[in-house]
Amino acid sequence: MPVNDYEITIGLEVHCQIRTETKMFCSCRAGFGYEPNTNVCPTCLGMPGALPMLNERAIERTILAGILLGSRIPEESKWDRKNYFYPDMPKNYQTSQLDLPLCIGGAVPLYTWAFPAHSKVSTAQDGVVRRVKLDHIHLEEDAAKLTHYAGYSLIDYNRGGTPLMEIVSAPDLHSPDEAYAYLKSLQQIMVCAGISNADMEKGEMRCDVNISLRPRGRQQLGEKIEMKNINSMSAARRALLYEIRRQAEELDAGIAQVQSTRRWDDALGESIVMRTKENAHDYRYHTCPDLVPIHTAPLMQRAMINMPELPDVRRTRLMQEYGLPSSDATTLVGDAPLCTYFEQTVQAGAPARKAANWVINTLSSVLTEKDAALSDSPIHPVDLASIIAIVEQGIVSTNQAREVLDYMWQHPGMPAQVAADALGYKKADSGALEAIVDAVLAENQDIVEMVRSGNAKLVNALTGKVMKNATPKPNPKIVTEMIIARIGG
Ligand SMILES: [Zn+2]
Repeated sequence: MPVNDYEITIGLEVHCQIRTETKMFCSCRAGFGYEPNTNVCPTCLGMPGALPMLNERAIERTILAGILLGSRIPEESKWDRKNYFYPDMPKNYQTSQLDLPLCIGGAVPLYTWAFPAHSKVSTAQDGVVRRVKLDHIHLEEDAAKLTHYAGYSLIDYNRGGTPLMEIVSAPDLHSPDEAYAYLKSLQQIMVCAGISNADMEKGEMRCDVNISLRPRGRQQLGEKIEMKNINSMSAARRALLYEIRRQAEELDAGIAQVQSTRRWDDALGESIVMRTKENAHDYRYHTCPDLVPIHTAPLMQRAMINMPELPDVRRTRLMQEYGLPSSDATTLVGDAPLCTYFEQTVQAGAPARKAANWVINTLSSVLTEKDAALSDSPIHPVDLASIIAIVEQGIVSTNQAREVLDYMWQHPGMPAQVAADALGYKKADSGALEAIVDAVLAENQDIVEMVRSGNAKLVNALTGKVMKNATPKPNPKIVTEMIIARIGG
């Protein structure tokens, strides 16, 4: 039967590394990009007798995620050991949470702008298409990173022990596009709230997907197939599209599905069975004897100081407070640091819509061109506001301002006015400029006549001639205005 006759049920388990200075159970530095095996100690290397020490900040951030997503925070939460034998976990157990996680229930909003470009979604006023139910959120430690090569494997214990939040959805998603939107919305929430950098390319956010099909109208869910460690949103979507087709074809042919774990090979574009229910892991969970249960009340109070805005709330505020069009507001909330930069530029005195335009278009393209991150930019919000100010005052044109920005990039801390002076851009002495305009008009009567008889485009030719004769270089927009005023009058 056609794929449409099957009801699709998808659940996602998302792992997010929490943004903290140190690891979950020791004081080793957490973070990406260090020399392998340099941020390690007896605790995170699982030496016998080494005891864990709790990272309160990681617990508080997890509780904050739960509060933001509407979860219930139980009064007490506890730690459990998940036993398994593998080199990425030298203790032979992972400290995790089984039956008393930090956050229970809640929901992840699917934002209209988080869906893939081709999908048609409702244009909900508040930006939320619907909310996908969560089962729970728990906290655990990340495993070390294994990299496999032909014939050998390398291991980096720096990642071992990094605070890792696991956000487990209910089986409440119904299409690969929804799964994509869920991941993107969740990522934006995590970044916006400063809980995780959630960069999937760096492995800071990873996801396991599970999917089952059942004939439409049947009560009981179909057998669940799980695919682990998918490392991009588009790969998750591709894996689900493939599984829907594969499972539907098999069900059509009368082949019953068996609960199993498959590996998604994104390069090959297919999934391969890894293990079935019969040989599933038995983790023999038990309560961790080294860690006391967490009393959540004080940490909840701390998490609620300076509650961050969710992206949808921030987007509505950007439109109301600054009068931004929804497209600009959507772009800005999609990049939380850029959005903060925009707000700081406005606070430094720039008109909001102009600031949004500069931040979204000019600054972003300069960063791409220079292959720099926003945090590396020597142009701070106050600098950008000063550039916008000299454009507003007519001292430089928009194009000239772009050169001013480049000049300031090379001379960090230089005020825009000083950079404009150095480049020879000054607000023209209007008397001298008027004289040049008059001279150019007198010398080019033929062009002036053509402009008068309706060939408006030729004004640019006159502007060009004035620009050529004038030093310092005036703002071409002002020159054009002067010419039009003269010719018109
Ligand atoms: Zn350590």
